[in-house]
Amino acid sequence: MLKTEKLTENVVKILTDPCVYIILDKKIIIDTTQKEYKEDLKQTVRKFISPEDIKKVILTHLHYDHIGNVDLFPDAEFFASPAAMCITDEERINFILNPQTNKEFDVKLKDITQDEQLKEMFDIYMTPGHCKSCITLYLRSENILFTGDTYFNNHCFGRTDLPTSQPEIMQSSVNKVFELIEKHKPIIAPGHDY
Ligand SMILES: [Zn+2]
Repeated sequence: MLKTEKLTENVVKILTDPCVYIILDKKIIIDTTQKEYKEDLKQTVRKFISPEDIKKVILTHLHYDHIGNVDLFPDAEFFASPAAMCITDEERINFILNPQTNKEFDVKLKDITQDEQLKEMFDIYMTPGHCKSCITLYLRSENILFTGDTYFNNHCFGRTDLPTSQPEIMQSSVNKVFELIEKHKPIIAPGHDY
């Protein structure tokens, strides 16, 4: 069983690496961590909600350590950045970074910016740099900012030396995150607790 923490009454953080978040009332999961945590994740999610009841899974970006357990949510729709919709086969290998996960990752992704419910709930920002599909999500009702691997607490940032990183635009993405922090003073929900 993995440790958990309630960020608010309605939002659970599962302390794995990377972190997984559950928005209870809307039956939404953000990121799914690494494959090696599959059993633990399943049991931990079950403490709060049945995985079969999860309606939507949002992937902050397509690195193997965030997408390893999409198969735990058989009835969910999967959402990611528009940039994640158009990955070439060659890019796909680097994008996901782990050849094994790459082979197994076979879900139909939908563009998060096209979903009415998600657009109503979140302010959605494209924050490429760590990789091209990175998004940052501001959940208005709970004042939580999900920063994926763009920004971690303690002024740490995602790596930009990975195969599909875009180091030249990381700074403007980080600036955007800082702007949002300044504006909302949110609870920060990062991809990793570094
Ligand atoms: Zn990453």
